[in-house]
Amino acid sequence: MAMVYCRGCARQLHETAPTCPQCGAPQHAVSPTKPASDDSSWMAVVSLILGILCVLALFDDSDWDADALLGTGLFAMTGMLLGIVSICQKKPGNGMAIAGVAMTAISLLCLTGLSAS
Ligand SMILES: [Zn+2]
Repeated sequence: MAMVYCRGCARQLHETAPTCPQCGAPQHAVSPTKPASDDSSWMAVVSLILGILCVLALFDDSDWDADALLGTGLFAMTGMLLGIVSICQKKPGNGMAIAGVAMTAISLLCLTGLSAS
């Protein structure tokens, strides 16, 4: 039974109490309901996923027609933009965003080579 001190009146209360029974002050420290960072890392995650998908697509040996090149290129560019925006806005998941940008950049280079041949 851990006890904590009320933020409002400094009396002891149980650590799971959402509010102080003495003064009614909310005890934020013991109610971690929402995640610490609202700045979601979804852009970094999407960038990473798109990067992986593009790299995987490049390993596909099937013939590339114009539509496939264009589609994969759009995927790669979207992933790259999301990754760059995520890095610029200092969002969490910087490592994922960098990896996403790197993979989409490589994919775009390969796609450029494929479309030129
Ligand atoms: Zn209190």
